[in-house]
Amino acid sequence: MPEAITYLDNNATTPVAPEVFEAMRPFLQDEYGNPSSVYKLAGKSKAAIDRARGEVAALIGAQPEEIVFTSCGSESDNTAILSALSAAPEDARLVTTRVEHAAVLNLAKRLKEDGRAVTELGVDSKGNLDLEELARALEGGGVLSAMWANNETGVLFPVPEIAEIAKEKGALFHTDAVQAVGKIPIDLSEIPVDYLALSGHKLHAPKGVGALFVRRGSPFRSFLVGGHQEDGRRGGTENVAGIAALGEAARLAREHMQDENGRVKAMRDRMEQGLLSSCPGARLNGDPVRRLPNTTNISFEYIEGEGILLLLDRDGICASSGSACTTGSLEPSHVLRAMGVPYTAAHGAIRLSLSRYNTDADVDRVLDVMPGIVKRLREISPFGRGETAEA
Ligand code: PLP
Repeated sequence: MPEAITYLDNNATTPVAPEVFEAMRPFLQDEYGNPSSVYKLAGKSKAAIDRARGEVAALIGAQPEEIVFTSCGSESDNTAILSALSAAPEDARLVTTRVEHAAVLNLAKRLKEDGRAVTELGVDSKGNLDLEELARALEGGGVLSAMWANNETGVLFPVPEIAEIAKEKGALFHTDAVQAVGKIPIDLSEIPVDYLALSGHKLHAPKGVGALFVRRGSPFRSFLVGGHQEDGRRGGTENVAGIAALGEAARLAREHMQDENGRVKAMRDRMEQGLLSSCPGARLNGDPVRRLPNTTNISFEYIEGEGILLLLDRDGICASSGSACTTGSLEPSHVLRAMGVPYTAAHGAIRLSLSRYNTDADVDRVLDVMPGIVKRLREISPFGRGETAEA
């Protein structure tokens, strides 16, 4: 029997839903035709891709032909930003934020090294943008990339308002919605974004499949150059099983979102309130209201988040300190630093992120073990000895 796991790291990745696994299975076994071939076997693969395109489009209020399947959220982000810039004048500015995922920030860094003008907007102590500053940065147009939901804190940027500002300023707008899609309702028929990135493994599909929404008429330049797949928008034989899985995951998200969000939020809130009240020196990071229903980010002052993670892991609890991509680095999270969280708190930050597969027993388990872990680490911490909530 595998050890029982309490999985609270759903912003890093999610377990594949059983229905999703069943939806992809035929394309890993008997239905292996290349969707570009002409015989009936291939037709099944092609039909599966068409079906999935419809499901993904329906989840975000898009048209099926506005969806391009990719290999991951990072590829979608890169494709969107480079597409927008390919149509913009050479001196057009890329405007983004200091709290984006590495898929955007590291591309922006490279573009800057290549001579592109780049502005990275800051956030306030709750992780919110200043929309007047954003409007000023977009004066004269350019390209904007701003995330929908932050992967570390869950904080939501006001994408409908941002999209209106971008439109008014004549800027192209890409939103990295990798953490938002499947967790909150999104209707792009109402919100004028040009591009939106999503990733299968954040909504109970497997790793290795993503999608990019490209609004009809918005500039597009393929990132992966090759055959005529995806209507000439992405070369490479399609990941049929992965795409079928993403379609089913999108269908399930649409079906479950309304019922499940309330339950997930209630579990998150109970866990958060329990930890804040039972662990001295604990503080919440990020806007307490304007955020995803599944995420909490809590700092335990004067101790190391990595230490908490190791002890949680010994108890079979999976969580994360900051984003998984920066784990291993001694630098505290760039998101928390951008919010001005002091070093002593940023180092001790833990992200707990739930999904519809979590239960009240998972919350009980965390509430049971965390106070002891925090107490123990405080006792051995050179900074923490003697420090309490009042410190
Ligand atoms: N953007 C955000 C906000 C993310 O959280 C992630 C993954 O953690 C990505 C982009 C990258 O997605 P992928 O892992 O599918 O490349």
